[in-house]
Amino acid sequence: MTTFSLDPGPDQIAVRDWLHGFAADVVRPAAAEWDEREETPWPIIQEAAKLGIYSLDFYAQQFFDPSGVGIPIAMEELFWGDAGIGLAITGTTLAAVAVLANGTDEQIGTWAPQMFGTPEEVRLAAFCSSEPDAGSDVSALRTRAVYDQAKDEWVLNGTKTWATNGGIAHVHVVVATVDPELGARGQASFIVPPGTPGLSQGQKFKKHGIRASHTAEVVLDGVRVPGHCLLGGKEKLDARLARAREGTRGSGKNAAMATFEASRPAVGAQAVGIARAAYEVALDYAGTRVQFGKPIIENQGVAFQLADMKTRIDAARLLVWRASWMAATHQPFTAAEGSMSKLYAGETAKFVTERAMQILGGNGFTREYPVERMHRDSAIYTVFEGTSEIQRLVIARAVSGAPIR
Ligand SMILES: Cc1cc2nc3c(=O)[nH]c(=O)nc-3n(C[C@H](O)[C@H](O)[C@H](O)COP(=O)(O)OP(=O)(O)OC[C@H]3O[C@@H](n4cnc5c(N)ncnc54)[C@H](O)[C@@H]3O)c2cc1C
Repeated sequence: MTTFSLDPGPDQIAVRDWLHGFAADVVRPAAAEWDEREETPWPIIQEAAKLGIYSLDFYAQQFFDPSGVGIPIAMEELFWGDAGIGLAITGTTLAAVAVLANGTDEQIGTWAPQMFGTPEEVRLAAFCSSEPDAGSDVSALRTRAVYDQAKDEWVLNGTKTWATNGGIAHVHVVVATVDPELGARGQASFIVPPGTPGLSQGQKFKKHGIRASHTAEVVLDGVRVPGHCLLGGKEKLDARLARAREGTRGSGKNAAMATFEASRPAVGAQAVGIARAAYEVALDYAGTRVQFGKPIIENQGVAFQLADMKTRIDAARLLVWRASWMAATHQPFTAAEGSMSKLYAGETAKFVTERAMQILGGNGFTREYPVERMHRDSAIYTVFEGTSEIQRLVIARAVSGAPIR
């Protein structure tokens, strides 16, 4: 087993410093502009692709880092630069993880590279699970997938919402119900290849934060995909459905939950990046802003805030790294440590950005300083990838074994 170490190795330090340079030189200077434009920052994604930061190879390398901390380090640096642009660059990975977690080797080999495209022709991917009536309650999905045996095709109908890159993605991964009576156990994930008729973008949302990341509805109207687009294949699905109908439990989790479980510490790392960025601005400001004849940091009331902010950021990072290391070393999440890391990091990003705004006084409330944007961006981290309440539910169930509702 890989030993847990808080000391990143030389390769991890090199990646961290390289990404930090990109975040500081390319991402941060562009953050305010793309936040105002509320558009996908294609030129920056292209720049990331040219440098090898937006590529399947890069994420695969970080994903398979045996210590597990490759992805958290990468996420923290990019989101330190800016969360909206960070999500525009990394949103594809949510769909890629769904294929890695549920796909066959052949499906991974076919679809994962297409999700990223090439530096010359950059592509995006979208993971579409949430629906208007099924957010936290993923078992309530209504999007139907019906098998047309004569043509060996699946027919998808329904409306997805809140999909990052929804409608502008080259490849969409759609979670749909095959047998509604089985709830979450009757669901499966499907690849919708580029240009498939019947898939269209619904409304694009105007958001409070992470505004450089595209979020939209995805409408599926008689979308036909070939049988080989069912992730994991039909044999595996049929066996899973048979077990569910008999009321026996298999080893596999349902498709959507498996994807969320794998990605939670990475999302926590994004929140750590936002928190660290806001903390640094506040620390710097507190050391230079003079009131009553001295820098405001010389007041305990300000300095103690900074002490709490730094302590919580470091604690959040430790939880994220532990969960990522546990995932990489295939340890069971007996106390839902992945959910713990996302819960604590998300709450920390809100805590820290709010205090950073306060420390900047009136300036914190303006768009002249970045903490106002960071505060808006942080708010999504207690909502997506499972709200804070849902993380608490998962943790409480794991530690107690009680059927808590
Ligand atoms: C910007 C953005 C990007 C997103 N990207 C994606 C994406 O790429 N793909 C995707 O599939 N989804 C995506 N989502 C959806 C996101 O995961 C959901 O918004 C989230 O899961 C919450 O669902 P909901 O919004 O329907 O809230 P609801 O589930 O309706 O929850 C509303 C409130 O009720 C609380 N609540 C619900 N049930 C319980 C309970 N049992 N106990 C206690 N409290 C409870 C919640 O915690 C929350 O506070 C995105 C959302 C946003 C806003």
